[in-house]
Amino acid sequence: MDFRLSPEDEAWRQEVRSWLRQNLPPDWEDRIPEEQGWEFARDFARKLAQKGWVVPHWPKEYGGLGLDLWKQLIYREEMAYHRAPLGYVAMGTDWAGPTIIVYGTEEQKREHLPRIARAEVMWCQGFSEPNAGSDLANLQTRAVRDGDEYVVNGQKIWTSGAHRADWMILLARTDPEAPKHKGISYFLLDMKSPGITIRPLIDMMGNHAFNQVFFENVRVPAKNLLGEENRGWYMATTTLNFERSSIGGVAASLALLEELVRFVQDAPPELAYLCRQPRVRNRLADMAVEVQVGRMLSYNVVSIQAQGRVPTYEASIAKLYNTELGLRLARTGISILGLYGQLKPRSKWVRLRGRFERQYLWMTGMVVGGGTSEIQRNLIAIRGLGLPRG
Ligand SMILES: Cc1cc2nc3c(=O)[nH]c(=O)nc-3n(C[C@H](O)[C@H](O)[C@H](O)COP(=O)(O)OP(=O)(O)OC[C@H]3O[C@@H](n4cnc5c(N)ncnc54)[C@H](O)[C@@H]3O)c2cc1C
Repeated sequence: MDFRLSPEDEAWRQEVRSWLRQNLPPDWEDRIPEEQGWEFARDFARKLAQKGWVVPHWPKEYGGLGLDLWKQLIYREEMAYHRAPLGYVAMGTDWAGPTIIVYGTEEQKREHLPRIARAEVMWCQGFSEPNAGSDLANLQTRAVRDGDEYVVNGQKIWTSGAHRADWMILLARTDPEAPKHKGISYFLLDMKSPGITIRPLIDMMGNHAFNQVFFENVRVPAKNLLGEENRGWYMATTTLNFERSSIGGVAASLALLEELVRFVQDAPPELAYLCRQPRVRNRLADMAVEVQVGRMLSYNVVSIQAQGRVPTYEASIAKLYNTELGLRLARTGISILGLYGQLKPRSKWVRLRGRFERQYLWMTGMVVGGGTSEIQRNLIAIRGLGLPRG
């Protein structure tokens, strides 16, 4: 595979980069208090929408620019490298939207895709349940057909952003008699529907990102069923493959590594010895290699998508490697910074804005979300290597 980019692609990279530098000044994270970060992310997404840049690779009829996947990759790399806050749109652009493009009716596409592209709506993902995480097919939330509607009862957990979301992609059991993978359906649920209760779960960073979501006789119009009834499992695997692809995200590790290298080069006097330590030099060199490997794994995923195929175990390889890389990078930074590495961003002694402490806590979640590393290894063994199921 030749991953060299064309001059046109490089020009696109420059265009995105210079726009980001204007719209995300280097100190933007310090200027925005945490509690206003949410509004900033929403306004930023809407600015992107004005340029057609929320989903630049989607077809024009759905609000995209019709750019090829390589340009999308470049765009994603630049966004990740500059730490652009895309949380507001991500579940719509990366999970719900692509699945609707593959399985949605024309009416569903026209209703949902342009609104995602205009950054008007936020989506969340109602898949996991207390007894259905790694074993997602064990989910027990029920949806029972009643005329032109389904009536949903049950519970979801770890639902990121549910407290702000307008819509949810929801998995529910429609045939309890069928084998567990064959009785699940996939719904598009309006989060304003009566009967939904959302309770916060505070994560170990102290943030309210997760929720528990309870459904009590929630009525979902039958037109909001995605694809065929009882075929939801197969569509969910498509969503998870899109989620695991997370193309371009490794550029965030590159930015962090570059910051760490600059810190070591220009270290304050009490830490100046770091630069000369073989342990530190070797570790940073290893990380530089690993970041490039992670990047190539993402490029491989894009090359498969560009051929019109859906990456399966290739997406798992990229997800496994790149999230564990993020965690290794966090450990590297914390060990180089010593006791300073554990300080929170607001400490007066903090170094590098406390990024490595944040990265450590964040990446610990990322190796679990979207399917744990063990589950990715199982998928690679079964789908990639053809080994029997354990
Ligand atoms: C940051 C974050 C965001 C999330 N956001 C969402 C969201 O928006 N929507 C949503 O639906 N869910 C979300 N989740 C939930 C996530 O998908 C689950 O946490 C994940 O799938 C693991 O499920 P579990 O927590 O039930 O752990 P379990 O499945 O109980 O796993 C516990 C441990 O056992 C291991 N294990 C389980 N089965 C096997 C096996 N067969 N082989 C080897 N090891 C195994 C796991 O690897 C893990 O170490 C999020 C999670 C995180 C951390």
